[in-house]
Amino acid sequence: MNHVAPSPEMSASLALNPEQFASADGQKINLIGIPREQLADMLEERGHKKFRTKQLWHWLYWQGVTDFDAMTNLSKDFRRQLADEFVIERPSVSEALNSADGTAKWLLKFPDGNEVETVHIPEADRGTLCVSSQVGCTLTCKFCHTGTQRLVRNLTAAEVVGQLMLARDAFGEWPTPSDHSRMITNVVMMGMGEPLYNYDNVAAALRIVMDGEGISLSKRRITLSTSGVVPAMRKCGEELNVNLAVSLHAVDNDTRDGIMPINKKYPLEELLDACRTYPGVTNARRITFEYVMLKGINDSDADARQLIRMLRGIPSKINLIPFNPWPGSDYECSSARRIASFQSIVQDAGLSAPVRTTRGEDILAACGQLKSESQKMRRSERDALAAAHLAAQVAAQD
Ligand code: SAH
Ligand code: SF4
Repeated sequence: MNHVAPSPEMSASLALNPEQFASADGQKINLIGIPREQLADMLEERGHKKFRTKQLWHWLYWQGVTDFDAMTNLSKDFRRQLADEFVIERPSVSEALNSADGTAKWLLKFPDGNEVETVHIPEADRGTLCVSSQVGCTLTCKFCHTGTQRLVRNLTAAEVVGQLMLARDAFGEWPTPSDHSRMITNVVMMGMGEPLYNYDNVAAALRIVMDGEGISLSKRRITLSTSGVVPAMRKCGEELNVNLAVSLHAVDNDTRDGIMPINKKYPLEELLDACRTYPGVTNARRITFEYVMLKGINDSDADARQLIRMLRGIPSKINLIPFNPWPGSDYECSSARRIASFQSIVQDAGLSAPVRTTRGEDILAACGQLKSESQKMRRSERDALAAAHLAAQVAAQD
């Protein structure tokens, strides 16, 4: 096999702004989240041999240590130099909750006070971690609770990969175990935010997650969900080639314009084209289309038939998500009978279209209370929060 060193342009495009590497107290540099090539350059600039990167990487992402003293094959001198300038940090967990059904949830609080959530959903044959990419979201999908929150900021690469690392800390999942014994077998970028509007940081984090000498999670076990940021979809496919989930939610432009304003920028024809040409899509590796069931909006039999037509030629699976209302939302969930009718039309055409039920509702409620602090969370708000994680369960299904 031909091993080609990355070109300078390539390294530059993978590099992140070093300002975001600051530790929580701003005094040192957090090693977590720094792209591998950039870490190698940083060590070299400090007079260390490049091969040290491989050793350090192994301690950070294979062994998962947080203390330089544990790095026993590095000289004491080197360890001291590292400790003088660097730290190995995870995001701070302000609340860890466990649902009666086994779902676990961590509320993370960053030094600037911003908070996001990470959720783990265990199932018989897999464990899926639902990871956030932004604090809030700039898009304002009408059915989404996150969409009503102002975007506060993008998460850094360290904050994205840190969500997975702290979950592995919690499960004692270091050093990196074999696929079979892992609690976290799948990652879905389906928490808060639009991952393709924070592409560089999400890409850097996922490259670290996929690195075979570290966390070592296959691209086939990673799913990124997008509302349809068309120009970034191809890039994501070419550079990361993770599984793609698309929040479709409507079968004509008028309806989609009304519920997802991003459709005015990237209408259905462009979105479906980007799906059709998504790198690596085959029948064995299909695109997941998320479809929220909204009463009287997108749930008729004619909509189901149109869905089949429009997905022709695209290797697809469809996740039907019952809408969860929240205070101020303009929609209702379709009836169980309507969902069943929609589902059977889609399935009769040979497409997989599971409907999922919510898990971990009891703890989502508790976390919601923490997020809104002064506000008591109502039942409907709890449901809305739960809904955001529904897709996580379904996207990870093969
Ligand atoms: N921003 C990305 C990632 C979020 S994933 C995206 O939009 O794809 C969360 C999934 O939950 C998305 O498919 C979203 O459309 C869906 N969702 C949001 N609010 C919902 C609600 N109230 N009921 C059901 N599903 C909802
Ligand atoms: Fe943002 Fe996704 Fe919610 Fe739309 S559905 S507002 S893109 S998080």
